[in-house]
Amino acid sequence: MIFHKTSLKLAGLYLAVMMTISIFFSVTIYQVSVQELERGLRRPLPVFSANGPGFSSQVRDVFIEQRTQSYEEAKDKLIAKLLLINGVILILGGGLSYYLALRTLKPIEDAHEAQSAFAANASHELRTPITAMRSENEVALMDPDLTLEEAKQQLQSNIEELEKLTALSEGLLSLAQAEGAQLNKERVLVSDVTALVAERMRLAAEAKNVTLNIKVPKGIAIFVNKTAAVEILAVLVDNAIKYSSKEGKITISAVANETIDIRVTDTGPGIPKDVQAHIFDRFYRADSSRTKQQIGGYGLGLAIAKGLADANDCKLSVTSTEGKGSTFVLSAPKFVA
Ligand code: ADP
Repeated sequence: MIFHKTSLKLAGLYLAVMMTISIFFSVTIYQVSVQELERGLRRPLPVFSANGPGFSSQVRDVFIEQRTQSYEEAKDKLIAKLLLINGVILILGGGLSYYLALRTLKPIEDAHEAQSAFAANASHELRTPITAMRSENEVALMDPDLTLEEAKQQLQSNIEELEKLTALSEGLLSLAQAEGAQLNKERVLVSDVTALVAERMRLAAEAKNVTLNIKVPKGIAIFVNKTAAVEILAVLVDNAIKYSSKEGKITISAVANETIDIRVTDTGPGIPKDVQAHIFDRFYRADSSRTKQQIGGYGLGLAIAKGLADANDCKLSVTSTEGKGSTFVLSAPKFVA
């Protein structure tokens, strides 16, 4: 509704500008044309002034009257044509202005909708653990026979919910920092970045008995912010571990094309074609609700990675076959000395 009103206001503004220009030109054309016509009217009448034979003063008056009449007619025609042109501009310009106003406001409207959806998702995710904690605590407090053991269990459950809230707020903060971040870039060896990622993910991989292979040629350098590149790849490897079954295999490799493509390939469940386009959206989780409960997460990881990739002039993409696994590719600019 607010966008409809704003579109109308903006269209009105565009139309006002168009009409001002059109009226300005019409007035100018009118004045110039009238001046020309008047000059014609004032031109001397050589035939009559010569007072040649056969021309009476009566004929001369008729001639002058006719000339004045055609001058008046030409003026009226000019006014009518200019009014018609301005009328057409008003109607066509009105339509065009409304169309342009809609087009101008569309990206703002989309961003506004995305922001509202984000706020709704964030508050929903924040409310769920708070509501759970609150009702569990109320039930515990109302129980007159609550034992010390039960109270401890309740506190433990509270801590678990608080951990979820902490993870969510950290995710939201990282997302806010990632989107539109100004990053300092430098020459970074791909092998350095992947070694740091492997070190960071080692325990998580071991816990799930997942093997992590690194096949990166030595000496290839990219021009990125190192911390951000590590964060992006850590998200990809973390997901690969989370979504792979036990004994899965993850490979980090790098190929030099126009850009340097760093690939994280897993042997996990894969991602259906129709959801691949959405997995980089904030709060998007592709799994069934059962899997969602088993594998923690808020659907923010890939959105953070995408935000950091954009800020780093890198591209993040995915190819995946259901049942076979996924490959996420971070395409980073080459370092040119
Ligand atoms: P989260 O992992 O917290 O749910 P992400 O933004 O990291 O959020 O991922 C979004 C969704 O993309 C996940 O819920 C999952 O369905 C899907 N996904 C991401 N990485 C993989 C992967 N390696 N294998 C299968 N599915 C994946």
